[in-house]
Amino acid sequence: MFEYTLKRSKRRKTVAIKVAEQQLTVYAPHFVPRKDIEAWLKTKQHWVAEQVTKQSLHAEQCQFPIKNSQIKLFDQVIPLVFKQENCSQWYQDTDTHELTLAISPRVKLTDAKYLALMEEFLHDKLETYLEMRIQNYCIQMREALPTRLKIQHYKWRWGSCNRQRELTFNLHLASAPLWVIDYVVVHELAHLKHMDHSAAFWQRVSEFYPEHKKASNWLKVNGPFLRWL
Ligand SMILES: [Zn+2]
Repeated sequence: MFEYTLKRSKRRKTVAIKVAEQQLTVYAPHFVPRKDIEAWLKTKQHWVAEQVTKQSLHAEQCQFPIKNSQIKLFDQVIPLVFKQENCSQWYQDTDTHELTLAISPRVKLTDAKYLALMEEFLHDKLETYLEMRIQNYCIQMREALPTRLKIQHYKWRWGSCNRQRELTFNLHLASAPLWVIDYVVVHELAHLKHMDHSAAFWQRVSEFYPEHKKASNWLKVNGPFLRWL
């Protein structure tokens, strides 16, 4: 059984629990005996455990990027260095691949700024790679170039394509291996011809990316871990 703080009150008619900052508080009326409270808590054990893990995950994410001190770019670990310099900027060491995130002493929300710089870095790298691969696959697929390439945070998808031929990719793809990013590129480019997931669409994907099942499985399994927020 986990530890908890019991708070009794005269006005209270029912028992309630609250989980905050890894602490469990039980609110109960004066007339409920402690053993009844504990018996009831036992039935809630699963729920409480779930809340505690949920909240600890959240806390870890909020402290990022200070705590982890590393990110992944194209499946390669990039060590992070946090610094104060006259102006806010990022730069990468060509030999060690170490990424320095430097912020000016005037910045108030330092974590937010570090995060913004890191995302700027990932955005930049992903954009360069996507531009190159889109060019390349458009030639192979005899497809006209898309009208626009956008990168943004998506919660549930890796890419999208609309009727205006604009392609959008999830920024989190920057942490995936290059062969997986290639699959998402081919997938979205195939949508320029087929706006659905019909047999004809998959036929076109397989033609230019035969191992698409392996890549989409990789995303299913590893996708959730590509997020840094
Ligand atoms: Zn699709």
